[in-house]
This record gives sequence, structure tokens and C-alpha cells, in this order.
Amino acid sequence: MYKVAVLPGDGIGTEIVDSALAVLDAVAESHKFLISYEKALFGGAAYDEYGNPFPEETLEIVNRSDAILLGAVGGPKWDEVERTLRPESGLLSIRKKLGLYSNIRPVKYFPILAEKVAWKPENLEGVDLVIFRELTGGAYFGEKGRNGDQAYDTISYSKEEIRRIVKDAFEMAMKRKKLLHSIDKANVLETSRLWREVVLEVAKEYPEVQVEHQYVDNAAFQLIINPRQYDVVVTENMFGDILSDEAASIAGSLGMLPSASLGGEINLYEPAHGSAPDIAGQDKANPIATILSAAMMLRTSFNEDQAAKAIEDAIENVLAKGFATGDIAGKDSTIVGTIEFTEKVCEEIRSN
Ligand code: NAD
Repeated sequence: MYKVAVLPGDGIGTEIVDSALAVLDAVAESHKFLISYEKALFGGAAYDEYGNPFPEETLEIVNRSDAILLGAVGGPKWDEVERTLRPESGLLSIRKKLGLYSNIRPVKYFPILAEKVAWKPENLEGVDLVIFRELTGGAYFGEKGRNGDQAYDTISYSKEEIRRIVKDAFEMAMKRKKLLHSIDKANVLETSRLWREVVLEVAKEYPEVQVEHQYVDNAAFQLIINPRQYDVVVTENMFGDILSDEAASIAGSLGMLPSASLGGEINLYEPAHGSAPDIAGQDKANPIATILSAAMMLRTSFNEDQAAKAIEDAIENVLAKGFATGDIAGKDSTIVGTIEFTEKVCEEIRSN
């Protein structure tokens, strides 16, 4: 029995997580495994109940699980809450507490969504890349504060923090095309110079992997004009945050990008997007990123490769039949809500 801690969070979190659970139930039945869920409050919803976005009660449920499925957190309701108690700080603390230093974001171009991508579809054909974003260091975790009229955030990395994620990225490169792009700002930042040194050191252990270094400003440009050059990309926390949202434009919507946060004994799976307060509670959210995150969970935490593939195929088939949520609908699409899209994916799984 696989035990999953389910943290729906805020905004569209509940809707997209319910979708993913329905799909997991369908695939558990068709692939004959048992899975159980324990739900807990997280983010703004937990702050409202316990005055803390990641309360003890939630940590207990997380600690007795094998993996975590998370929706999204945040929203205007909590904008005025003190920084350390804001919903988003729950994310930082769960990552830190569980040692989830490696955030993996696969980005794929779906030709069926060609109308929705902002870039020339002919540049995107065949794009299939994975971004490794360091998740527990850098500016988001460094010392920060105010000094009169001044504010500061500190970017700090140790060699070990860099080495472990760079190694993970090399391992993935070995399983894929043996090509690794490391993104930094070594012409300006000392942490980036250390980053590059470590990449060069680790590269000696992987002589078969071709390593390319790019400055982040150039990478932001290259990702749009020539994304096919990338296969595995590794970068620090803030650069990865920005580049992976940029890469979402390749997939047509933020609602298409899953992610896995790894490195601990209990790993976490969540969509790359936020709580989308503008569409929350309206049955408009695209559940694909969360459903694909659940597929990553099956593959990575539970070794259920075939079940994961069944989910990915079902999504492609439903899209190919022309069903889409509003954010990815083209002129010939049949627009459906979150619930109906989910039902179509479940039907597809049951019929195969
Ligand atoms: P967002 O990702 O929530 O939304 C950006 C835009 O994309 C919105 O127009 C939204 O409607 C759309 N969108 C996002 N996901 C979608 C989906 N599944 N289907 C259809 N459309 C979708 O980012 P934001 O508006 O900058 O932030 C909203 C809140 O989410 C903030 O409080 C922010 O701090 C929080 N946030 C949380 C996470 C997380 O939980 N991991 C990540 C980013 C932002």
C-alpha cells in the first residue's frame, strides 16, 4: 500500500488535487496496486486554522507517508501576513525540513497546443527538456533584512549544496542524451563562479557527458529562440524559478508543467504553477500539471513506470481528441472544465 500525504493548499489547489486523486484511483485499479491518501492543511488554509502555514499536525501526516502530493498555496487573502507566516513560507520550510534540494521540471512541447504557444511552433517541434533547479539554497534561504531605507537578500552556496544537485543532473544526463547545460552568472556573481568550479569538478566523473555553460541572461534568450538545444539543464534556485516559468510558455500554459522535489526520504510532487486565485473555485483550472506530477510520483517514489506511462498517454489522447481547459484551448477545441477533463482522462485509462 502506497501512503500519500495530500496537501491541497489554497486557491485552485483543492480542485487540481482532487483531479489527480481521481486519476490515481483509476490507474491504481487498472494497474492493480493499492494507494491511500491522508489529507492535511497547508499554506493559507493551515494559517487560518493553526496560525502556521506548515503546522505540526501536517508534519505528522507527512512523516508517516511515503510521498507527498501538493496543490498550490497563497492568495491575496494572506498578502498582509508577516513574511515568515505567509503561505509561501510553508513551501520553503517543507522543502528545508525534508531535505528536498532538487526540483525537477520536465518541459515538453505538445504539438496539439501549437496555437497556444507564443513562439514559432517550428522552433518547438521535439522539445523535451528537464530543468534541475536547486531548491534549498540561494537568495530564498540566505540572510535577509532591512537596514533603514536599505533591504538585502543574501545568495550563499556551499560546494556540497552545489555538488549534490549537479551530480543528480549528470546522472539524468547519462540516462538521456548525455548533454548538460549549466546556467550561471559567473561573469558577475561569486556564487556562480563556485557553481561553475563544482560543475567542472563533477564533470570529470562523467567524461561521456558534454557540458555547456551559459550565462542566465543568455539562457533566458536561448530558451525562446532555440529551446531544442537543451536536454538536461541545471541551475541555482532563483534562476531555476524564473527559467522554468519561462519554459512553461513552450508547453502552452503554466497549467502543463509538473514537478518533483527530491533529495529526502519522503519526496514531494506538485505543479509548477501557483494557486491561480483569479480562476479559483470556477472549475476552470487545468489539472494536467498536477496529474503529471502524480505520474512522476508513481514513477519516482513507487517504481510504477507503466502506471505513470498510462497516465501520460491518457492525457495525450484526451488532448488529441480536442478536449481542453480554457487556458490551452485552440479554435477547434471543445472547452471543458476541470472536472470533465479529469473524467475524460479517467475514462481513457479505464478503456486501455
Ligand atoms: P499563478 O501560477 O498562480 O498564476 C499565474 C497565471 O497562470 C494566472 O493567470 C493563472 O490563472 C494561470 N494559471 C496558473 N495555473 C493554472 C492552471 N492550472 N490552469 C489554468 N491557468 C493557470 O501565479 P501568481 O498569480 O503569480 O500567484 C498566485 C499565488 O500563488 C500567489 O500567492 C503566489 O505567491 C502563489 N504561488 C504559489 C506557488 C506554489 O504553491 N508552488 C508557486 C507560484 C506562486
